[in-house]
Amino acid sequence: MQNEDINMQDQLPLVVGVDLGGTQIRTAVLRGPTLLSRVSLLTGANPSPDRILPRIYTAIQEALDKAGAPLEQVAGIGIAAPGPLDYRTGVIFTPPNLAGWDRVPLRDLFTEQFHIPVFVENDAHTAGLGEYMFGAGHGANNMVYLTISTGIGGGVIMDGKILEGANGSAGELGHMTIDWHGERCNCGNIGCLESIASGTNIARKANEAIHAGEGIELLTFARTMLEHSSTVPDPSALPTQGHDANTVELRSSIFAGRDELNEDSQRGSVQEEEHLHVNARTVALAAEAGVPLARAIIQNAAEAIGVGLVNIIHCFNPEIIILGGGVTQMGPMLMEPALRVVQERAMKFPRESVRIVQAQLGHNVGLIGAGALIYYHKNIKI
Ligand SMILES: [Zn+2]
Repeated sequence: MQNEDINMQDQLPLVVGVDLGGTQIRTAVLRGPTLLSRVSLLTGANPSPDRILPRIYTAIQEALDKAGAPLEQVAGIGIAAPGPLDYRTGVIFTPPNLAGWDRVPLRDLFTEQFHIPVFVENDAHTAGLGEYMFGAGHGANNMVYLTISTGIGGGVIMDGKILEGANGSAGELGHMTIDWHGERCNCGNIGCLESIASGTNIARKANEAIHAGEGIELLTFARTMLEHSSTVPDPSALPTQGHDANTVELRSSIFAGRDELNEDSQRGSVQEEEHLHVNARTVALAAEAGVPLARAIIQNAAEAIGVGLVNIIHCFNPEIIILGGGVTQMGPMLMEPALRVVQERAMKFPRESVRIVQAQLGHNVGLIGAGALIYYHKNIKI
């Protein structure tokens, strides 16, 4: 980033970002991409709006206090939320990972509480916006953000604007059909990219093969890993960005936050082999170690991602495609087959104008993107 950008960022007004996750709700006071304070709370088993909203209000106030920022200095509150939602009215419908939520008028509720501008947006769109304004997409006008972790989401920026579609549902890149004879996806469609290449589905395919008796070698690998799991670093303590020189970090962050294998080890359930649940990280490690079933699953996911990238290139003609999420950090094992598919199949003209790069903002992308909503809606150019 150039010096003038950094100077400009010092001039940006303060904003509050809220990232409404299925397991954690995070709030922060930010200036541009810089977090001045952060306060998080666990979503819990019963996150009904009546219970959770007052806690979020308190968390925001705590974040303001920690940052030494009076509310009157804050330009607005940006909320990244799981869809479906109406970004124009700020009403959240029934997100699958927030039980008890149904048509919650989030924007109006927060406005009543804080009396400053509030904007609500789909969380994948805001993550894309964050990368567009402050990350790998800085300077691009036409950009696609694809995040592959437990699910697969997308944020599309065309001519500097978030592509919303008729009702804000544009950019559901995880639910483009890759295999129309494939398996049923959670969304109801068949053969979605998500149903093949998300971390959850990489793990699901491995476990199905194990249950079908085809995964003896993978099971043995997983059991060995389990026995040595105390030597595996805590994924949450590691950065989400990495490089090839530090493969331990890369491997360990593949599935941060859903480390069922380590949970199993804490319960000491080695003896219950049939219940041993292999996660995506284990599949990736097994693939690197040469276990054929694991290699086939990762190869299949990688090629599906490649086909997805071809579709993205053909539909949007982006200057840049930014890959975020833990699964994309599996490194060359995943990216080489995916990029080979792009080389082999994408039309030459749009292919030659696109760069495919890793996301830059790491695990704070949700908060940075939420805060960026304020700059975006106020037409503050970065
Ligand atoms: Zn789907």
